[in-house]
Amino acid sequence: MEPHIALLPSAGMGHLMPFLRLAAMLASRNCKVTLLTAQPTVSAAESKHLNSFFSAHPHIQRLDFQLADHPSLSISYYILSTTSARFFSLITHLPHLTLESSCVNLKLHGLPSFSISNIPPPIFNPQNLFTTQMISNARAISRVKGVVSNTFHWFEAETIEPLNSGKTSITLPQFLPIGPFKHYEDPGKCSSLSWLDEQPAKSVVYVSFGSRTAMSKDQIKEIGEGLLKSKQKFLWVLKSVKVDKAEETELKELVGHSLLEKIEEKKQGIVVKEWVKQEEILTHHAIGGFFSHCGWNSTMEAAQRGVPMLAWTLNGDQRFNAEVVEKAGLGLWPKHWGWLGERLVKSEEIEEKIEELMQDHKLRSMVPKVGGRGQNGLGKFGGTSEKVVGQLIEMLKLKS
Ligand code: UDP
Ligand code: UDP
Repeated sequence: MEPHIALLPSAGMGHLMPFLRLAAMLASRNCKVTLLTAQPTVSAAESKHLNSFFSAHPHIQRLDFQLADHPSLSISYYILSTTSARFFSLITHLPHLTLESSCVNLKLHGLPSFSISNIPPPIFNPQNLFTTQMISNARAISRVKGVVSNTFHWFEAETIEPLNSGKTSITLPQFLPIGPFKHYEDPGKCSSLSWLDEQPAKSVVYVSFGSRTAMSKDQIKEIGEGLLKSKQKFLWVLKSVKVDKAEETELKELVGHSLLEKIEEKKQGIVVKEWVKQEEILTHHAIGGFFSHCGWNSTMEAAQRGVPMLAWTLNGDQRFNAEVVEKAGLGLWPKHWGWLGERLVKSEEIEEKIEELMQDHKLRSMVPKVGGRGQNGLGKFGGTSEKVVGQLIEMLKLKS
């Protein structure tokens, strides 16, 4: 009999998107899927996506629940890790670590070494809420049956192999790399796509730092000026913490009238503050590069399609993710740009790196190979992830 799987995403689009993709994938393999949706959602984007997802997938059951309920059931639990295997492996060790910011490298038994400067600063503060939650979550990992992850063997072999070989100093559940997750059809409009239709092949740099990164006005100005100076075409998607504010008004406030006018006048690119269909944008023939914060979902979406990346890692797991990108030859990462707010990255620096991203022949000729591997991860060639999905469904059929 096919298993009945309940999925419980955490708050935020960066968590919801991979869960929806996993739900669609499991349902397409005849699993019975129930999505538990915590109410109320944090943003309107989440409730909008949930509604359109459930109308497109009527066979997936929706179960709203209030966050206060904590049912303890005798069923098997799995985690969907929404970060890189590399960052996940650090998290698993957190309860047993004393981190010294004065060291250069961190060497955990069996795993590749981590540079201390890539660890998000809040992790060095044991009182930080983010850190205490991560540590308590990390303690719970040993109680789950498996960890499902949107990555693939070739992309992160140096981490996935030791995680599953029992070579680490702590005992971990099985790590199941089943990515890259496939796109599911999302109805609704996206005006940026019609603009892209008019642009030449591989001529546009797509600029987006995730679903809700807020930047200072000064930094936004430097990005805008840098893009204009680079002479490259661009599609720039801006976000702010105020996820649900009227978009037109806020765009003017964020970018400033004079810069916005300059952008409109030069006709070199467009800037929007709306929810765009990122996966369709990354698939579009006009896109030649992706200036990104290296959120893990975005990284996997670029890897799958072989879109070269310029990484600007702003917070959280992003430096660990950028290391994966760099090692795989998927893109550039100016490390000295630092974390968000650490320093003002100037327009000249942005101009230089955007030019390199769009014109460096060596980088551009290497990337399609990464793309090919990404496709093979879960594709018609029977890649490694395909086998792991089969294995996961067999594990899920066992009741305990
Ligand atoms: N995304 C999108 N449209 C937007 C902004 C984001 O489709 O306007 C999607 C993007 O494709 C990715 C997810 O939202 O799947 C963002 O996740 P990621 O891990 O890249 O970044 P986060 O937002 O969690 O920092
Ligand atoms: N966060 C933080 N410092 C970090 C990483 C995350 O303060 O180094 C905060 C982040 O702003 C968010 C929360 O912790 O409010 C959850 O972070 P996570 O990376 O899980 O967010 P995601 O982008 O995946 O939703």
